[in-house]
Amino acid sequence: MVKPCIANSPAGVSPTLLTVYHSPPETRGNWSSCMAYVVTENCINCKHTDCVDVCPVDCFHEGPNFLVIDPDECIDCTLCVPECPVNAIFAEDEVPADQAEFIELNAELCKSWPVLTEKRPALPDADEWDGKPGKRDLLQR
Ligand code: SF4
Ligand code: SF4
Repeated sequence: MVKPCIANSPAGVSPTLLTVYHSPPETRGNWSSCMAYVVTENCINCKHTDCVDVCPVDCFHEGPNFLVIDPDECIDCTLCVPECPVNAIFAEDEVPADQAEFIELNAELCKSWPVLTEKRPALPDADEWDGKPGKRDLLQR
């Protein structure tokens, strides 16, 4: 499904707009399709899940030590970005170059991991893992 871009809407997120976003493309006026948001490396072994609470379309999926965003469901509302205590969420076109593989990882893993809709306690040693380099190899599937 081609998504319209919320960034082009002057009204922000509202139930009316969400209805429009999930309607057929020919009824969406001039809104263009655009990118999704992406969870990146610093979520690994942290998984605070603050982001889940604010997502209006429930597009977070949970793995053992990481969350991903379903790019086909994300409406680019940006609400999750400031909620992440470890700054792990980026717009697709702002993902750091050395983490570009996370764009594909989000799209791949959301297909097999379950949807998470409510905040849960972070992983026990989340604070110790915040900002540590080289966490990519610790991603559990
Ligand atoms: S708030 Fe940040 S660290 Fe926590 S699950 Fe979401 S992306 Fe991961
Ligand atoms: S930008 Fe974040 S909160 Fe908004 S729809 Fe996408 S994942 Fe959900």
